[in-house]
Amino acid sequence: MKKIKSIFLTLICLLCLVLSFNSTPSYALSDITSYNNANISIKVFENLENEFLKLRNEDPQVERINEWETLARKFEIFFDKNERLSQSAQGMYDATILYEELYKKVKSEKYLDRAFIIIEKFLKDYSNHYLADDILIKKGDIYLFLLNDYEKSKDCYNEVMKNYNQGDMYELAKARIKLILDKKNNNTTSNFIGQQVRNNGGEDKFTNSNFVIVIDPGHGGEEGGAKNNSGLMEKDLTLDMALKLERILKQNTGFNVYLTRRTDKFVSLGERTEFANAKQADLFISLHINASPNKSAYGIETYYLDNTDDKSSRKLAERENKSLTFGNGKIDDLQFMLSDLIQSAKQEESIVLANNVQRELIKHLDKRWRGIKNLGVKKAPFYVLVGAHMPCILVETLFIDNYQDAKKLSNENFRQDVAHALYVAILRFFDEK
Ligand SMILES: [Zn+2]
Repeated sequence: MKKIKSIFLTLICLLCLVLSFNSTPSYALSDITSYNNANISIKVFENLENEFLKLRNEDPQVERINEWETLARKFEIFFDKNERLSQSAQGMYDATILYEELYKKVKSEKYLDRAFIIIEKFLKDYSNHYLADDILIKKGDIYLFLLNDYEKSKDCYNEVMKNYNQGDMYELAKARIKLILDKKNNNTTSNFIGQQVRNNGGEDKFTNSNFVIVIDPGHGGEEGGAKNNSGLMEKDLTLDMALKLERILKQNTGFNVYLTRRTDKFVSLGERTEFANAKQADLFISLHINASPNKSAYGIETYYLDNTDDKSSRKLAERENKSLTFGNGKIDDLQFMLSDLIQSAKQEESIVLANNVQRELIKHLDKRWRGIKNLGVKKAPFYVLVGAHMPCILVETLFIDNYQDAKKLSNENFRQDVAHALYVAILRFFDEK
């Protein structure tokens, strides 16, 4: 009997609890629910994003078609369910990429149909989103590079130039339109980008000269540069960004682009500049990733060559110069070479280039990736820049040992965005020259 009584009491208590919940004003309850839902959704999205990055890194050739399809579907379900979340727009962008890659691999129209439906929905619902101009470029690129439809692709690029003229896709849209015009004029040749350089009557600085760009992916081989606990290495990240930048430059300009290394091998600092001089480069960009004993340090900084009294810049230069001991160069030579050769570097132009690069990196990356800190343009005695006969700079892109920065660095899309920003900065540099 006692037991029954206690069960009865428990039931009453439970009932009270339910009633008290129901008597809470309904708006408050629904607020809590939607707040929780939003939190859950953001978690779900983060998982999808991780899956997305993992798949693209593990299967760049799109061999695991089922997984690509399933993930695209998951993104679609996600943004159908979470219409008001800004993550939904990002999810649409990512789903578009998945379908685009699937089409490139399998050439089945159904994938492009899906991609176009998503793009139109994005442009209708999120025209003010920071990725709106990015997805318009994507739409144009699908028409241009996959379907050879010049007119429709031109419409997309024109829309970017008209409606998003303050955005960071403006330059790219402009370059793409130039590409189309030239492709039309030189329909007989397959190498229309090269033709662009030779045939354009000198109205534009990008196309009347074969600029030579040397990109220098920092470190390599046994000399790995900075690294973090989870195995991320500076030498791999810099090489990947360099290859991405090379691809963009070759796709969009007639420039001659060279890399000081294309594989994971050791190249001495002296050899890197020698290579740039031998190629008679118009500019030299050395790519690096920062590191600091202070784990909370984060952000981007761009350097030109000079002596400095600034302690942290000197420390950084010391670390980056360390690979001298791996090669033939002797560290004792450094001071001598510095005093002698800083004069010969085209310092004024290097400062302009450094400012362009720093500005475009911050502008472009901060838009898509939260929390990019602008550490500014600085000077330091980097050996790799010594003896270069052209404007030369060294970029330290984020800190490998900072948790948030490392997360970005390990993201393929982030590295693509770095390459894109560098590309825009290079165009601006030549444009202003
Ligand atoms: Zn480095």
